Amino acid sequence: MLPSDWRYVIRCQTPACGALAVYKVAAAWSDGVTDELKTYALTCPSCLPYWFEQACRKQTLCRLAHGETLAKPGIYELSPGKRDRELARRHDLEVQLLTNAPNPAPSQTTT
Ligand SMILES: [Zn+2]
Repeated sequence: MLPSDWRYVIRCQTPACGALAVYKVAAAWSDGVTDELKTYALTCPSCLPYWFEQACRKQTLCRLAHGETLAKPGIYELSPGKRDRELARRHDLEVQLLTNAPNPAPSQTTT
């Protein structure tokens, strides 16, 4: 089964949102040997402010083992078929969101 168009249809992780995820909120993690992007959220543009803020909060609470490093969360554009390190990072959005007032949770009722 190898359809080419279903694998990368990723939905926003906000319950009941249902929009396509466009951004990945992730932070570069390393233990000194391997490094990878630690994914916090896959989200649509309208839910991004909320999830980015959550990611920033989690990042500051994250306990690291000796030798581990975790960068601040970044916003990456999801692109079909691209590896994590190839994703375009949206520094402009990060700056914009970090300078904005705290964002309320996305309005939805189911959990
Ligand atoms: Zn959404």
